[in-house]
Amino acid sequence: MSENENDFDVVIVGGGPAGLTAGLYAARARMNCVLLERMMLGGQIATTEMVDNYPGFPEGIAGAQIGPLFETQAKRFGLKVRQFKTGLKVERSDTGFTVSCGADDLLQCKSLIIATGSGWTPLGIPGEERLRGAGVSYCATCDGAFFREQELAVIGGGNSAVEEALFLTKFAAKVYVIHRRDQLRAEKIVQERAFANPKIEFVWSHIPLEIVGDDGVAGVKIRDLKTEKERLLPVAGVFIYVGMKAESGLVKDFVKVDERGYIIAGEDTVTSCPGIFAAGDVRVKPLRQVATAIADGATAAIMAEKYIESL
Ligand code: NAP
Repeated sequence: MSENENDFDVVIVGGGPAGLTAGLYAARARMNCVLLERMMLGGQIATTEMVDNYPGFPEGIAGAQIGPLFETQAKRFGLKVRQFKTGLKVERSDTGFTVSCGADDLLQCKSLIIATGSGWTPLGIPGEERLRGAGVSYCATCDGAFFREQELAVIGGGNSAVEEALFLTKFAAKVYVIHRRDQLRAEKIVQERAFANPKIEFVWSHIPLEIVGDDGVAGVKIRDLKTEKERLLPVAGVFIYVGMKAESGLVKDFVKVDERGYIIAGEDTVTSCPGIFAAGDVRVKPLRQVATAIADGATAAIMAEKYIESL
């Protein structure tokens, strides 16, 4: 154990399932390790109402419960967690890396585990940015309850769009799911639930052109891709789920990323930069789930341990 409280074997960045699992394994390997998180622990999954496909919870588990459970388990073995760390910067140092969390908050480490996940992609249409927080949202769990008995639009056809549309039916009078094709990308079981829900109406083969309204959303202008006809769908809120983008900016100068910013690393989480490991959604991978994120977290911690032993 180092004498300096800011000297670590491993710094983990990101407190979602991948980062917290890396912390659990690193702590159990008796590495001196700290996890940095910019907000609450739990990551993206914390904004999901119910997680039905994480094994071990036969009745499902609330997304918001996963982070605290993982945290309690990792802390039992001594993981240190520092929350609300924003504006991080990484530099190389003689002994590995320096992570700065502000001018007078410098951490030294031999190895870094990047588990920063991914964030929502904006649509980039007029009105979206202006009305963000005034009816435009990327988080149904956070904002859904503001729209009791109102009509809403969800944009997208993946798991996020369809699951969040289902969640919104708890509050809304009606939810339009606007999708650019006539087939969903979401898992079949999620599709079946949505098709059976009388409050959901699919608007197939349409794209959103503009979100309109003065102080709040009044509707979304959409175009039928088959007929080219445009119309205004009057809704009080627009929830956007058109995919994710990698949150890899912190280490973009050190590691190779793909064309969408995902860090290039295999199942061993080893990146192009010795000492930096990538775990969870931020890594190039075919399936982004809690189950695949925790696998990465465990692997990254053990690979970091081997790396440090080899120094
Ligand atoms: P996604 O799977 O990438 O789906 C994005 C959706 O948005 C697609 O239907 C896409 O249409 C549409 N889209 C993309 N750009 C668009 C644009 N400019 N205009 C209109 N529509 C656009 O993203 P996601 O649903 O957020 O899921 C991300 C990852 O998390 C996936 O791997 C997903 O499986 C996973 N996830 C899993 C669960 C679960 O297992 N319960 C829940 C949530 C998320 P096209 O279909 O035409 O491409």
